[in-house]
Amino acid sequence: MMATATETGPSTPATVPDAAEHELVLIRRGPRTGAHVIVAVHSTVLGPALGGCRLWRYGSLGEAVQDALRLSSAMTLKAAAAQLPLGGGKSVVFPPAELDLAGSSREALLEDFADCLEMLGGIYITAEDVGMSAADMDFLSRRSRYVVGVPAARGGGGDPGAFTAIGVLAAMRACARAAFGSENLGGRRVALVGLGHVGEPLARALGETGAELVLSDIDPHKQALASELGAGWLEPEEALRADVDLLAPCALGGVIDEALSIELRARVVCGSANNQLAAPELADVLAARGVLYAPDFIVNSGGLINVALELTGYDRERALTRIRQIEDVLGAILDHASCSGATPLAAAVQLANERIAAKAAEPVGRRIAA
Ligand code: NAD
Repeated sequence: MMATATETGPSTPATVPDAAEHELVLIRRGPRTGAHVIVAVHSTVLGPALGGCRLWRYGSLGEAVQDALRLSSAMTLKAAAAQLPLGGGKSVVFPPAELDLAGSSREALLEDFADCLEMLGGIYITAEDVGMSAADMDFLSRRSRYVVGVPAARGGGGDPGAFTAIGVLAAMRACARAAFGSENLGGRRVALVGLGHVGEPLARALGETGAELVLSDIDPHKQALASELGAGWLEPEEALRADVDLLAPCALGGVIDEALSIELRARVVCGSANNQLAAPELADVLAARGVLYAPDFIVNSGGLINVALELTGYDRERALTRIRQIEDVLGAILDHASCSGATPLAAAVQLANERIAAKAAEPVGRRIAA
């Protein structure tokens, strides 16, 4: 079952941005299918805008455009904070209600999208997002040069979930050092909610560190993983409020609402889910309660780092080294937050914005040459 677009939207501490903040917004009706393709390029200050493409049946074209605008501005922060030479962009394909999303009509839809990628000439590079698959990226990459996230067999990074999980584990180590004085996760109680492409490999990796795990998912079949790992099992609402050291939300966005921000008992929140806070002010509520909330766009940047490396010739070892550096990147953010009194979220946004501002201050000619 597909979740709603707002549930799965990437992290952003901002509300829906105005189109005027974007460098370019393309809205094109695909000649083959009549689907609307929306490409939102928020920023290319640091490099070409990279971000996934979401295929979704929105309620209206306006909703689809808003989603593209919101998602693309969050990618600018994510890429900047990850020190990637990339800007932020995102695309959305909004098919007509009657269009079948399988077989030849799906191919026609992807061809309509590939036209837009070529039209933009590399300002925007796409990848997989909700409603798209690795097979779709494979298909697209045969029609456009501006595609990453292609299967490992074709020289790409493959499923980004496992890489994202490695980054979450690295982020947890930074959090543990800041909160408990040691990055060692052995013996730490961790509640992990959402056992999908990221959550399952994360659970396995945490199991290997000797962490004491409580797992949770709305899918009861996932209890088999808990049994296999000798972990506890709780329903999601209980797991989110469990008395643990670390809580890892790895399912939907918006999970930390006002009530949960007051009720959760974990000392650290560090998970892969995009847009974990239902409202950005909740970062302050958590901080006031002494809860360390690790900014999700730093924690879950492993997937982006992995696909970004396809642009310069994918190398798995290089990808892993870069992803493990999330521990240092987040560690520096947490140190800065603790010295300045800012929340880690505010410190991360500041770091990303400073990087963009420094590049933007360079003469335009030099930026383009780089
Ligand atoms: P997924 O769809 O593979 O897995 C999500 C899991 O969460 C599923 O097992 C599902 O049953 C479970 N789930 C759904 N609703 C739930 C609920 N209310 N309570 C408990 N469990 C619930 O997704 P994924 O690829 O593992 O991504 C997880 C999160 O991480 C998403 O928010 C995604 O946007 C974010 N993220 C993923 C990647 C990646 O590389 N896959 C990268 C960055 C961010």
